[in-house]
Amino acid sequence: TVTIEARDVTFSFGETQALRGASLAVEAGEIVAVMGPSGSGKSTLLHCLAGILVPDSGEVRFGDVRLDTLGEAERSALRRDRFGFVFQFGQLVPELTAAENVALPLLLGGVRRGPALRSARAWFERLGLGGLEHRRSGELSGGQAQRVALARGLVARPQVLFADEPTGALDSLTGEEVMDLLVDTAREQGTTVVLVTHEPRVAAYADREVVVRDGRVNAPAGVGS
Ligand code: ADP
Ligand code: ADP
Repeated sequence: TVTIEARDVTFSFGETQALRGASLAVEAGEIVAVMGPSGSGKSTLLHCLAGILVPDSGEVRFGDVRLDTLGEAERSALRRDRFGFVFQFGQLVPELTAAENVALPLLLGGVRRGPALRSARAWFERLGLGGLEHRRSGELSGGQAQRVALARGLVARPQVLFADEPTGALDSLTGEEVMDLLVDTAREQGTTVVLVTHEPRVAAYADREVVVRDGRVNAPAGVGS
């Protein structure tokens, strides 16, 4: 079963055509790496799939739901209830503690503070962050912050995790630790993952790689005919 799909999607930023007929279907539970050169349209494709941007033409489907025809309020609710996000620079709230940052998606989803913080804290041991629950997120190392961001992306058990260069700001060893955790947790939870990266070592964690060039999606060179 397909979880999330873009069909012939176009999107322009003013004069810049970022997507020119991009199609990608991701199966439930699949981990797909979206590769391609800088500026090719990877992030824009991820934003269209995640209902952050609305395509100029084409379709985006999440199961039976047409994301491209939903209003902003409905897309926002869907993102909150079904999707998780991890970005290149964790984008944690520096004034909040690490545990409060992880708890945010639950709090936004209406879970009360006590239970939300308990769920959040349960992630810390498992991500090798035991003892850092009360640290302000501005006081974490890059690798720690990115693991906290990963926990925040997964805490509400999303059906789809959208990860945009989640290791882009990390050295390669720390990046591999984050990817190990991302992939292990996604598999455990059955979470579908759309992973944007330009690093082959990171893409190697995925079940499948696709390449975006000039706003379209291709199979990687050497695959198929
Ligand atoms: P990638 O993720 O592959 O680096 P992007 O999807 O970020 O590519 O960008 C695709 C194209 O759209 C690029 O030419 C980029 O400069 C342009 N672009 C992306 N975001 C914006 C924006 N907010 N405003 C204007 N142009 C943008
Ligand atoms: P990415 O790693 O996704 O390629 P970039 O560093 O290209 O990110 O862009 C970072 C942010 O700047 C994104 O939010 C993107 O939408 C925006 N952006 C990218 N290109 C442009 C552009 N030409 N004009 C305005 N904003 C842009």
